[in-house]
Amino acid sequence: MKLAAKLVTVVIVLLILLLAVDAYLSVQWMRRLHAADIQEDMALLSDYLRPTLLDMWKHEGDDGVVKKLADLNDKKSTIYAKWVWLPEGKSDTEHSSKLTADQLAVLRNGQIINLPDTSSDTLKQQRMYVPVAIEAERIGVLELVESATWLSVYTQHVVVRVLLITVAMILIGGAVAMLLGLVSIGRPLNRLIYKARRIGDGDLTGPVVLRGHDELTELAGVMNDMCVNLGAAQRKAADEADARLNAMEQLRHADRLTTVGRLASGIAHELGTPLNVVSGRAGMVARGDLSNDETVKYATIIKSQADRMTQIIRQLLDFARNQSVKKQSVDMTEVAGQAVSLLQPLGRRENVELVLEGGGGALFARGDAGQLNQVITNLIMNAIQAMPRGGRVNVGLEEVHGIPPEGVEADAGSYVCISVADIGQGISDDDLKHVFEPFFTTKDVGEGTGLGLSIAYGIVREHGGWIDVSSVPGEGSRFSVYLPSEGMS
Ligand code: ADP
Repeated sequence: MKLAAKLVTVVIVLLILLLAVDAYLSVQWMRRLHAADIQEDMALLSDYLRPTLLDMWKHEGDDGVVKKLADLNDKKSTIYAKWVWLPEGKSDTEHSSKLTADQLAVLRNGQIINLPDTSSDTLKQQRMYVPVAIEAERIGVLELVESATWLSVYTQHVVVRVLLITVAMILIGGAVAMLLGLVSIGRPLNRLIYKARRIGDGDLTGPVVLRGHDELTELAGVMNDMCVNLGAAQRKAADEADARLNAMEQLRHADRLTTVGRLASGIAHELGTPLNVVSGRAGMVARGDLSNDETVKYATIIKSQADRMTQIIRQLLDFARNQSVKKQSVDMTEVAGQAVSLLQPLGRRENVELVLEGGGGALFARGDAGQLNQVITNLIMNAIQAMPRGGRVNVGLEEVHGIPPEGVEADAGSYVCISVADIGQGISDDDLKHVFEPFFTTKDVGEGTGLGLSIAYGIVREHGGWIDVSSVPGEGSRFSVYLPSEGMS
């Protein structure tokens, strides 16, 4: 609508300009034409009057000439004739003052002078001086005057006509703009704008259908095609994202199973003792030479050992299971405790003491407990592996004010920091730059996949946090996981 009004306004303004130029040119042309016309009329009249007046002046003097001209003027001719004596002082100063010495000389030579009124742009009067009686000191001149009032009337007429056309054009143009704007441009444009807004909001459904065969219909078609293509691209991108997610999930699960494999030997070792206890006590019960009280006591021992084994195996199964990702408020103290408990058997076997530090109070972060458990388990597992001759791993938990490192898009603020520190071999500066890269490993084939830290890093980034590492070769390493805090209790 606004567009149509603009277009029509521009067209109207251009037309008005054209009309104005046309009116100006036609007035100018009329003026020239009229001036030539008057001159011709005057020339004819002067040719006729000159000999008659000379003759009359010779016989009847000035009075005869003036009377003759008065008769002529009475005939209501458009040309007014007058008898004047030139130059100044000898006759009518009004006229003589208008003539220069050169013009007087021209008259004295018997030649006619045409004098258009140049006092304004519009021609008002046309004068002609015709020498009739030439004496030594004065010249009797026939002055012919024709006023150009007709021309100003014509000019007025043209101006009024242009104004009327302008008003008509504005009215008609306005109506056309309203109609055109509403039907042909405004309505289709509104529908296109609505469609574009929907596309902007991500809604690609409902093609816009416009009638006709103009550019707007073409634009609607292009927009519809664009939506179809965008939809296809979106679906493709979503499929690819799904595939990537699946691949990532499978990789994470594979990494979990690798950890399970490494844990299994520790757990097998850990199950040995309770199994021996169960087997010994069950054998004694089976022999049947125990008193009732002893039987009850041994059965209780067998049960507690079986419970212990069940718990160890459940922990391992829980860890190995491919659970669906579910983000919720997670107590990281509990998660870290579970990871430590899962790795205790392996730690014991490797002579590594696992120490869980912190006050024991709950520290909440938002995330998936299974994935976060995998992160901490990976870090502790690496720490154990970094101390082949045994040692100690400290797992610390605290709430800190975290400032994200360069390259990590996160806000500074309150974070739960879970640190895993060992006193193992450490990491060289060269290796330190690569530890989070997928498939980077310094371990022997079969011992390391190089995926643990990259997967851990990916999980933590997905949770809005990051992992920091510091290490001194020969002294140990510290990995710190930062997760946005949800508070503590
Ligand atoms: P993997 O353990 O399978 O090698 P990771 O991604 O977990 O894969 O670790 C990559 C590498 O980082 C390891 O091979 C090791 O060189 C180094 N690394 C990780 N954690 C530690 C640690 N606590 N102490 C020393 N080196 C470590």
